[in-house]
Amino acid sequence: MQYLPIFAQLKNRPVLLVGAGHVALRKAGTLLKAGARLTVVATYFADEFIEWQQQGKAILIESRFSAEHIEGHVLVVAATDDDAVNQSVFEAADARNILVNTVDDQPNCSFIFPAIIDRSPILIAISSAGTAPVLARRLREKLEAILPAHLGPLAQLVGAFRDKVKQKISGFAARRQFWERVFDSSVVREVQANRLDLAQQQLEALLEQEIPTQGEVYLVGSGPGDPELLTLKALQLMQQADVVVYDYLVSEPIMQLVRRDAELICVGKKAGAHSVAQEETNNLLVSLALSGKKVCRLKGGDPFIFGRGAEEIEVLLPHGIPFQVVPGITAAAGCAAYAGIALTHRDYAQAVQFVTGHCRKDGVEPDWHSLSRPNQTLVIYMGLMKVEHIQQQLLSAGRAATIPVAVIENGTRADQRIFTGQLHQLASLVAEHQVQSPALLIIGEVVALQQKLDWFGDRAGQQAQQSLTNRI
Ligand code: SAH
Repeated sequence: MQYLPIFAQLKNRPVLLVGAGHVALRKAGTLLKAGARLTVVATYFADEFIEWQQQGKAILIESRFSAEHIEGHVLVVAATDDDAVNQSVFEAADARNILVNTVDDQPNCSFIFPAIIDRSPILIAISSAGTAPVLARRLREKLEAILPAHLGPLAQLVGAFRDKVKQKISGFAARRQFWERVFDSSVVREVQANRLDLAQQQLEALLEQEIPTQGEVYLVGSGPGDPELLTLKALQLMQQADVVVYDYLVSEPIMQLVRRDAELICVGKKAGAHSVAQEETNNLLVSLALSGKKVCRLKGGDPFIFGRGAEEIEVLLPHGIPFQVVPGITAAAGCAAYAGIALTHRDYAQAVQFVTGHCRKDGVEPDWHSLSRPNQTLVIYMGLMKVEHIQQQLLSAGRAATIPVAVIENGTRADQRIFTGQLHQLASLVAEHQVQSPALLIIGEVVALQQKLDWFGDRAGQQAQQSLTNRI
């Protein structure tokens, strides 16, 4: 993060603007809107400045800039058309540790003005840290178009109720839950329809209602890693949760989308590495939910495919804790799609089997004969540690040594790697390329088409880039 986004309270605070031409005019307008007490130093003034002076909104000093002008200001903006003057404004302010912006000269700025979307009191600021102002502006236009105009009135209505709600509902978490209910209620629709009186009545009514104190568990599949593969529902619940209990499979970009102030609890789950025992995770979910929290149990892929999701839900039942299950794209589907492997194909495979490479605790082996049938695709989860055994068992059960195989590491993620070969090379592919978890093994005739159908990665990168630029 190159800049810290903050919203500064400038009402009645002294701000110095150096320059009074057209560029300065824009900045002055923004600063006055924020209520700043504006002093302008310049050798000539555009008409608007004179008007502002007459209305008592700005003090004008007709003078060349000198360092003393800086004193006593909380913020300085250099907006003359003379680079040398701008430079000396920057140096004078910077030497006094006063934040300064030099218009269109990013290196000489200790703060920058973002592009803003104003639905006061809702404000959205966008910055590209000076790298791509046009992109930032276009993003702003997009957001302007999708953000409804009623956001402002809605925030105003809610703002007027804050003190009342504070008095009535004690505790931060309970108040947050109340507001979540408000934003899910018809209050929003009434504001949208400009029926502010009705909206207010409904808000009052909600405040009188009993607030459920019981928690809830959302068992959410986050897919294989690409955040764009999240479902809308997953995203919504990730944003609503008080606590997010996650494991290592959930990718970093997905964790970035979790509600900022949610409590995050990692429960590990990495073969060989320290992780919280399943029973502890189960107990944790129960105790969090019983304490009234909305718990998002976030898992990689789909929670019901090698995700132990059912076990985590079962423990909630005796306590009567409500839950929801949100499916996610399982690794097999996600990785295969991003690797250009069609798991079934009329000419190559009429069936697909998902199996785990982890043996059962009692050591019972899977039915290798059934897994070795021709014209079917075998997808093996958690197969890295046992890859030699898997290769050998499939070969002994009669699967042809030349059947194509693929190993996909970090599927759907920016660092996805794919290695292909034949069944007799499976273990050596893993060893040679030092494949790391998470990785998926795909064995079957369909892998023969991989090279032809491959699209994600460099080739795709260019296309995706292209389509992204088209969209923005
Ligand atoms: N519930 C998950 C699977 C959990 S088991 C799902 O539905 O996808 C963990 C195994 O899933 C890993 O050992 C690996 O085999 C596979 N896996 C999960 N995400 C993966 C990814 N992005 N790339 C490759 N394999 C992945």
